[in-house]
Amino acid sequence: MQFEIIPVTGFQQNCTLVWCDKSKEAAVVDPGGDIDRIQQRADKLGVSIKQIWLTHAHIDHAGGTSALAKALGLSIEGPHQEDDFWIQGLPEQSRMFNFPSCEVFEPSRWLTDGDQVQIGEEVFDVLHCPGHTPGHVVFYHSGEQLALVGDVLFQGSIGRTDFPKGDHKTLISSIRDKLFPLGDDVRFIPGHGPMSTFGQERRSNPFCGDHAGV
Ligand SMILES: [Zn+2]
Ligand SMILES: [Zn+2]
Repeated sequence: MQFEIIPVTGFQQNCTLVWCDKSKEAAVVDPGGDIDRIQQRADKLGVSIKQIWLTHAHIDHAGGTSALAKALGLSIEGPHQEDDFWIQGLPEQSRMFNFPSCEVFEPSRWLTDGDQVQIGEEVFDVLHCPGHTPGHVVFYHSGEQLALVGDVLFQGSIGRTDFPKGDHKTLISSIRDKLFPLGDDVRFIPGHGPMSTFGQERRSNPFCGDHAGV
């Protein structure tokens, strides 16, 4: 399994290409926009994009989904159905945040806790981690000890919870009860900013670490 982070949109959202070495099949996680750049990177790397995986349906993560899926005939996996109201709101989000106009889409599959997604021979577990949005999911590759956590957790910070149906307590519980038990050594790719490990966040994150209040 290999991956490459491609920051996209004005929010510098971490879109991530993950691919299977053997088959050279790739999934695009959170194509917020700049889909030409994503396709160019895939071409450069010699991988063929087959699927889109979504952690949640905020525009900086999902804004390019409809156009990319149509252009390449891709299946759309996720997020959890609780984020449908965010998908329906994408056209309004695009006007609000000055994004290129963007269409509503229907995921090929809603994801829920315990599901798996697969690209080539690489399998990721799906964890439902609400709090930032109610339908937020995380993709976890146990063999590689790697998680793609979207806007649940960042290096030194956590996701916002002041959006509709956001909830701080729920977010903290998603992090402490679902992500941290995966192990201190697990590396994670957040939706924004640099990578970190769950161990580092347990030690030093002021919002959800072992020494944080809450
Ligand atoms: Zn978000
Ligand atoms: Zn974001």
